[in-house]
Amino acid sequence: MKVLVINAGSSSLKYQLLDTDNQEVLAKGLCERIGIDGKFTYKAPGKETIDAADVAMPTHSEAIQAVLNALVDEKNGVISSMKEIEAVGHRVVHGGETFACSVKIDEKVMAALEECIPLAPLHNPANITGIKACEAVMGKDVPQVGVFDTAFHQTMPAKAYTYALPYEYYEQDKVRRYGFHGTSHKYVAQRAAAMLGKPLEELKLISCHLGNGSSITAIDGGKSVDTTMGFTPLAGVPMGTRSGDLDAGILEYLMNKHNISMAEMMSVLNKKSGVLGVSGVSSDFRDLTAAAEQGNERAALALDMFCYSVKKYIGAYAAAMGGVDAVIFTAGVGENSAAERMSIASGLEFMGIHMDPEANNVRGKETVVSTPDSPVKVLLIPTNEELMIALDTAELA
Ligand code: ADP
Repeated sequence: MKVLVINAGSSSLKYQLLDTDNQEVLAKGLCERIGIDGKFTYKAPGKETIDAADVAMPTHSEAIQAVLNALVDEKNGVISSMKEIEAVGHRVVHGGETFACSVKIDEKVMAALEECIPLAPLHNPANITGIKACEAVMGKDVPQVGVFDTAFHQTMPAKAYTYALPYEYYEQDKVRRYGFHGTSHKYVAQRAAAMLGKPLEELKLISCHLGNGSSITAIDGGKSVDTTMGFTPLAGVPMGTRSGDLDAGILEYLMNKHNISMAEMMSVLNKKSGVLGVSGVSSDFRDLTAAAEQGNERAALALDMFCYSVKKYIGAYAAAMGGVDAVIFTAGVGENSAAERMSIASGLEFMGIHMDPEANNVRGKETVVSTPDSPVKVLLIPTNEELMIALDTAELA
C-alpha cells in the first residue's frame, strides 16, 4: 500500500511516500518556511532532486498541494495520480491519556486532539493543521491516521508515571509522565526481536534513543514500562540543548538571583542547557568530540555527563524489569557514535554487558555490537519512525 507520511511543524512539513509492501521509500522531502517565503525540497531515487526557494506556501494546504504536484509530476513524479495514495499517516506529538495506539482520524478524534493541545501547545496545533490541510486538498475519502509519540508509553504502570505531587494535579490537570519518541522505541523493539530471533513478548529490552533529544525506555514483553522523558520532553538525560532532570529548587534560586522570568528560565532549560550549556561549544556531538580531543575540558565533561546519565538509566531499568536481554542504541548519536556507545556500555560487564570493540566500529546499520558470548546483547538499530508510521497507517486504513 502506498502511504504518505506527514510530520507537520508550525512552519514546516516533512513528507515521505512509502510503499508498505516492500518498505521502499518512493519519494521524500521537506516544505519549510510555510507562511514566510516557502522552500521546497523533493528527492526520489532515479529522479531529479528539487530544491526550490520562493514557492508560494501561505499555509500548510499549499505545502501539501506542492508535495502532491511533485509526486504526480510527469517527469520527476513517482505515481501517476493522487488516487494511488491509499492513506496518509500523521505524526502527532501528544495523545495524552486518550490515545494508547494509532487511530484512524474522524471528527471525534479531531475533537480529542484539540483537547490535547494544552499538553503540547507548540506541537499539536501544527499536527492538527497538517491533518486539516491534507483533508482539504486530498478529500475526505483518503483515510488519515494519527500516530502519537506518546502512545507507546501508555502501558507504563502508575508507579512509573505518577509524580510525587499532590494527587489532584494528576486527576485535575493530567500532570504525569507521558514519555516521547514512542514510535522510535516501538520500531527498534520490533527490530530487536527480529534480530534476536525471539518473540518480543519474551524479551526485556532497554532502548536508548540518543539524538539531539534523547530518551531511554524500559520495554518488558513489548510494552513500555518506564521512560526517561516526562510530562514534557525536558526530562531524563542531558540532551543537545535540554537540561534533562534537575532539582526543581534550582529554578527558584536562579530566577530570584538573576531576576529571570519563567519564560526565560524555560528557554534556558530547553535551548541553552544540556551538552551545549555545559561545554559552551556545541549541541552537536561531533563538535564536542572534536573539541574534547583537542583538550577542551568542558566538552569532555559534557560528553562524560551524558554517557554517565545514560549508563545510570540502563542500570535503573534493568533493576526495574528484574533483568535485561538486550540494550538497543538508536538515533543520531546512538547509530553513529561508536565512542559514546562504548563509553556508556563499558563498566556494565558486572550485569552481563560485554562490548565487542571491533563489531562496535560501525555506523548506521543493524549490528550486534556485543561479543558473541555476551549474556546481554547490545544492538545498534537505525530507527525509522516514518516506516513505523506507514505500517501502522496501512494496518488501520
Ligand atoms: P533529532 O533528535 O534532531 O532527530 P538525530 O537523531 O538526528 O536528532 O541526532 C542528531 C545528533 O546526532 C546530533 O547531535 C549529531 O551530533 C549526532 N551525530 C550525527 N552523526 C554523528 C557522528 N558521526 N558521531 C557523533 N554524533 C553524531
